[in-house]
Order: sequence, then C-alpha cells, then structure tokens
Amino acid sequence: MTHPPSSRSHTNSPTLNLPKKDGLDSVLVINDDPAMRELIEKSLQKAACNLITAANGPDGIALFKKHNPQLILADLQMSGMDGYTFCATLRALPGGEDVPIIVITSDADSNAIERTYSSGATDFIIKPIYWAVLHHRIQYHLRTHRAMHEARQSSILLAEAQRIAKLGNWIWDLDKQELHASDESYRIFDVPKVAPDIFHALFIRSVHKDDKKRFDIAVSNAHEGKSTDISFKIALPNKHIKTIQMHLDSSRGDHHIFGTFQDISEQRRTEASIRQLAYYDSITGLPNRDLFKEHLNMALHQAGRNHYQVAVMFLDLDNFKRVNDSLGHGAGDQLLHTISSRLQDSVRASDMAARDTSEMDISLARLGGDEFTIMLSCLHGIDHVNTVAQRILARITQPVTLGGNNIVISASIGIAIYPEDGDNMTTLLKNADAAMYKVKAEGRNGVFFYDQSMRHQSHDRLELESDLHKALDNDQLTLYYQPKVDTQSHKVIGFEALIRWIHPQKGIVSPIDFIPIAEESGLIVPIGQWVIQAACRQHQAWRKAGVPPVSIAVNLSAYQFADEHLLSGIKEIMQQTHMPAKYLELEITETVLMRDADSALHILNEMKAMGLKISIDDFGTGYSSISYLKHFPVDVLKIDREFVKDLPESEQDATITTAIIMLAKALNLRLVAEGVETVEQLNWLRDRYCDQIQGYFFSPPVPPEIAVKMITTPFPQGAIQSK
Ligand code: C2E
Ligand code: CA
Ligand code: CA
Repeated sequence: MTHPPSSRSHTNSPTLNLPKKDGLDSVLVINDDPAMRELIEKSLQKAACNLITAANGPDGIALFKKHNPQLILADLQMSGMDGYTFCATLRALPGGEDVPIIVITSDADSNAIERTYSSGATDFIIKPIYWAVLHHRIQYHLRTHRAMHEARQSSILLAEAQRIAKLGNWIWDLDKQELHASDESYRIFDVPKVAPDIFHALFIRSVHKDDKKRFDIAVSNAHEGKSTDISFKIALPNKHIKTIQMHLDSSRGDHHIFGTFQDISEQRRTEASIRQLAYYDSITGLPNRDLFKEHLNMALHQAGRNHYQVAVMFLDLDNFKRVNDSLGHGAGDQLLHTISSRLQDSVRASDMAARDTSEMDISLARLGGDEFTIMLSCLHGIDHVNTVAQRILARITQPVTLGGNNIVISASIGIAIYPEDGDNMTTLLKNADAAMYKVKAEGRNGVFFYDQSMRHQSHDRLELESDLHKALDNDQLTLYYQPKVDTQSHKVIGFEALIRWIHPQKGIVSPIDFIPIAEESGLIVPIGQWVIQAACRQHQAWRKAGVPPVSIAVNLSAYQFADEHLLSGIKEIMQQTHMPAKYLELEITETVLMRDADSALHILNEMKAMGLKISIDDFGTGYSSISYLKHFPVDVLKIDREFVKDLPESEQDATITTAIIMLAKALNLRLVAEGVETVEQLNWLRDRYCDQIQGYFFSPPVPPEIAVKMITTPFPQGAIQSK
C-alpha cells in the first residue's frame, strides 16, 4: 500500500462540505426530450427536493458546477453529448466523484448496462418508467449518498482533529506484531503510510534507549490488562527526537492493545523554556535562588531521613563592584559568566578524586549580584568540604582577561553545616552568610566555617551588615553638611560632609554604627567612593547655581587610605565633576597616618600634588609624632571634641588645647575646633586665636538645601556675644 509521504502543509487534505442551509436536496435532471422533462418534474413534485433541469449534456455539466446537486437523473440517449460521455465527464469534475447518477435508458442489453456502469453511472432505470419506482429509487440514493457523505465528513473531522492535536490512534496486534495506525500516527513518526508489520518494527526500533525500560514495563502492564500512560522519547531515522505521550488501553483477551500516540515535543519545549526562565539565571545559566532553595530543601529532607550532613557554602566575590563600576556592566556580566564556569569546573565530579565525590551531590546556584551558593549533600563527614572550597578559591583567583585587561578576583566563602549549624534552609543560609562576612572582615579571599561562637554575635549587627550591602544600590545613603565657621567673621568657610544611612525600617542610622561594619566588610571602599562623588556633585551643583565656593571636607577611613585605587578614583571623580582641587579637603585621622607613616607620607604627597587639602582629624586622641607631623604636607588640624567639651572649666583640657593651638601656629597649620556647643567654648577658643569652629553651637550637620543658606548669611555676631 502506498501513500504520499507526510506533508506538513495540508493543502491536499480532503475538504469538508458543510450541510446545505435550507436542508433540501437538489436533483439535476438532464433530458433532451421536453415532454419527458415535464413528466419527470411532475412525478417528483411530491418529493421534497429542488429540481434543476437541463436540455443537454453540456448545460447539465454547467448546472452541476453551479449547484452541486445531491443526485443526477440523466438520459442515456441524447443528441450531442450522450449519457456515457456525460457520466465520464462529470466523474472527472471536483465534487463529481461520488454524486449518485441514475441513468434512464431504453436499451437494456447487457453490453449497454455494462458500459453504463463503467462510464460512472450509479444506477439505471429502463423505460418505460414506473413513476412510483423512480420516486423511491431517487429517495433511496439520496439517503445512501447522505449517509456516505456524513460518514466521510466525520472521518475527515476525526483526521483533522487528530492532526491538530498531533494525536494518532492505533491497534496493536501483539500476536502478529502489527501496528494498525491512523494517518496522524504515521505523520508523528515522519514516515509514509506503510504496512502494519513494518510500522510495528519501526515503532519498536524508535523508542529511545533511555526510555526503553519504562516503555517495556508500560507494554507489559497493558498486556496484563492495566491501562497505562507513558511519555517517552523516540529517535527517528531522520535523527529527529520527539517526545510522545502514549496511552495504552488494557489488552483485550484477544491480544490486541488499543491506544493513542500524541506528539508532545512542542509542549515539552515550551515547558522547558518556561522552566529555564523561572529557575535559571540568564547571565550565567546557573540555577537561581528559587531552584537552589528547592534543591536544598530536598537535600535537607533526605539528609534528615538518612542521617547525612549537608554543607551550604555562601560565596561572595571580593571587589566585584569595583570591576563592574570601572570596566562597565558588560565586563561585569562577562566576569560572572567566567566565574560560574570556573565554579562548575571546580565541582565537576570527574575532576575530583573519587573519595571526594562518592555519594556526594553538588548543586550550584547564583543568588544574585556576585553571590553564589554551593551545596554539598549526602555527606558522611565534612572532611572534604574544605578541600572543595579551597579548590574553588584556587580556581577563581586565576587571572581573568576582561576587555584586554588581566584582572585577578578573589572570593570569600562562608560555610554552614546541617544539622550542626541549623536544621532548616533559612538558618543555614543565614549562618553561611555570616561566616562569609567573617572572611571579608579578616581580609577576604578565604574560607570560614560558621561556628557556635558566631551565634553570640549580635543578631542586629548581622542584619545591619546584610542591609548595608543593599544600601548603596538602593540609594539609601545621603550626605549631611556641617559648617565650619570663621571664629572672627562668623562666615562659613566650608563644610564637612557626614554620611547618613536612611534605613527603610530603622530610619536614620548613625555613621558611628555602620562605618565600622562597612570597614569590616570591605564595603567602606565603594561607600567612601560614593561619598567623595556625592560631595563633589553637590559642590558642582552649588557652583552652577552661583553660590560662592566654599571648601568641602570628606572623611577617609583607614581602609580607603590603604586602597591602591583611592587616588585614581578621586581623580576620576574630580574630572567628572570639574571639582577645583583647592576646595576639596580630605580628613584623615592621625592614627591612620601614623600606622605606616612612610607610605602615608607618600600618599599625602601625591594628594598634595593633586592640589587637595589635607586635615588631620581627631587630633590629640591618638599618638602622633611631632617630627612626622613636621614632614606631612598637612593643611589643617582638627582638635577633637574630647578636649573641647569640658572647656573652659577643665584645666587639663585647657592646657592641651592651648598646646595644640600653639603647635598648629608653629607648623603654620589652620586649626579647627570640633564639637563647640556653647558660647563660652566659642569665646575661649576665639581669644586663643583658634581659626575655625565646628559644632552644634552654629549648626548640626544638615541636608544640603539648608546648608547652602548658611553660605550667604553669616551667623550673627551680636546674638552670640549676648548668649
Ligand atoms: P568625625 O569625623 O569626628 O565627625 C564629627 C562628628 O561629630 C559628627 O558625627 C558630627 O555630627 C559630630 N558633631 C559635630 N558637632 C558636634 C557637637 O557640637 N556636639 C556633638 N556632640 N557632636 C558634634 P557624625 O556625623 O555622627 O559622624 C561620626 C563619625 O562618623 C565621624 O566623626 C566620622 O569619623 C565618621 N563619618 C561620618 N561620615 C563619614 C564618611 O563619610 N566617611 C567616613 N569614613 N567616616 C565618616
Ligand atoms: Ca571628620
Ligand atoms: Ca573628628
């Protein structure tokens, strides 16, 4: 049996004829004898049908094309086109293949009858006509035709439905090993219609080897009388792989299974891409947080039952933000991609010694930003966890080429172990995170296991630490400005920029509380960078608004001072904001300067060369060496609030303050007294020629829109004297 190969375009599939609107059948009568036509018309008046008449063959053909009648009554002996030719012509027309044609003839010999049938007639009636018979004959043929038509339509509908649903049905003869299948079944297997034994062989051969076992079980279930559904892959001779959903109806005693195939490949592909979107990270292709949580939950569940341990590693790249900021987001994404493939490499089972991996399950994920997690489950001991973590670090710290630059990035890994460090996902993740911060605090690029002692670390602090990570990205930081006022004129000479964190729940958080955390976690570097930039932008905005320029001071933390990119960062910001160097002041505590005086001197010299002003902050609280102070290119000394707050009563503080003022004069440094709150303090300091005053007496740190008003309006003299 042959059949045209399956075609994806269904232009040549059978057409559906919808039922006529008025429901009446049409009968076409062709006769060249007008008297005969009239008789026929009369006799058919009672039959409920539309009668169409033609006087010759060609007219008959034309009317057929126009009206598509359900039956034709044609005379055999006609002048011009005779009945044989008419039948043959009509049969060749589209839609003419199966309309019943009754031929009326006076010639009843067997040859003529044979010829009538072979030219395409359905039936014939011999003259003279018995009208009652004619009537019944016509009704009979109309009914038969209608029934056939309906049967054909429903099989077309069924085939159409199967094609749309990509569903084929079949009967499987288990004894003969034959598969009798519908057209769509063949199409699913991309083959032309073939004999059932051949199709059976092809079908069995196509079942994908991965699914063979399940397939055999499903078949033997059906064999035993159990209806079964199974989906499996088929590998076709043309190398296509499809996914098939198969329903097997229970085998009837006679060794036949009935069933259906459905091609669900597309559905599976859609499901897969939805899953990809929902569960995988688009930059690295790694599982995302949601999928990781599922994996971890599953692993914990299993571990609980089987008394395994599970290690949760929290990995955070060191200084990723700097790469992102300096080389751009494209490079940042590329770096994340590289890191993720390195992570995959370093946990790939084949690369690990067998003892590491026996029964060890590893799952990687990117949580977001530069944070990754690695889960090792089914552990019978944690000996290898550290090995794996060290391997990961070693792999990550190999240089990466990014846009022509060779950069080295390190990572901090914190590890928490189930069940010791937590019996649920949230606690484990939180503790691994806390352990990771510990690594950051101790200089990064390392591995730290969560330990019980960390539990005593205040929960608030851990929370603050994790919130602080988001503060920068979420614009929660802002600068307040506190004026430095000339002691004689009461004019504002400049401002100190002081950072504030507007925490979404806690409100304003003081820098005293979060700067130490920022320093420990390394966040102080990007935060410090942000402060310089924000201050310079503010200065630029004021300049643009025509405000007379004043100096602006920012605080530098010890960690920033140790950062090799500090100076280049400042230069870049100054360029961006056209900041005149002479107005930018850096406040550095004396402790920071004395820690490594030689390298401090070097950095200060460079700052000086850039034209920046340098203040020594909190002067008097640390240990300073006067001889170094002499060499440091410093502009300003700031007397710490400690010495100011008990003035003028405290004799001791008065002595120290006087000494500092004298030292500043001797070294030709400007002197600022911090924390001035009272008019007595102010007067005392002014009388001893302290240049500038900073403190609540004039103003606390305020937002820029309030600060700017102080520039043009000096603080009143008289009011102060009278206080
Ligand atoms: P600091 O550099 O010694 O700043 C002066 C601090 O004294 C400010 O506290 C200021 O509000 C406060 N203050 C000023 N006048 C008075 C006064 O009359 N009486 C009293 N009681 N206090 C006064 P603030 O803003 O809370 O900052 C605290 C510290 O946080 C700063 O001390 C500084 O070390 C650090 N800090 C603030 N902003 C930054 C920053 O942007 N970067 C860095 N690295 N540290 C910062
Ligand atoms: Ca300061
Ligand atoms: Ca200070």
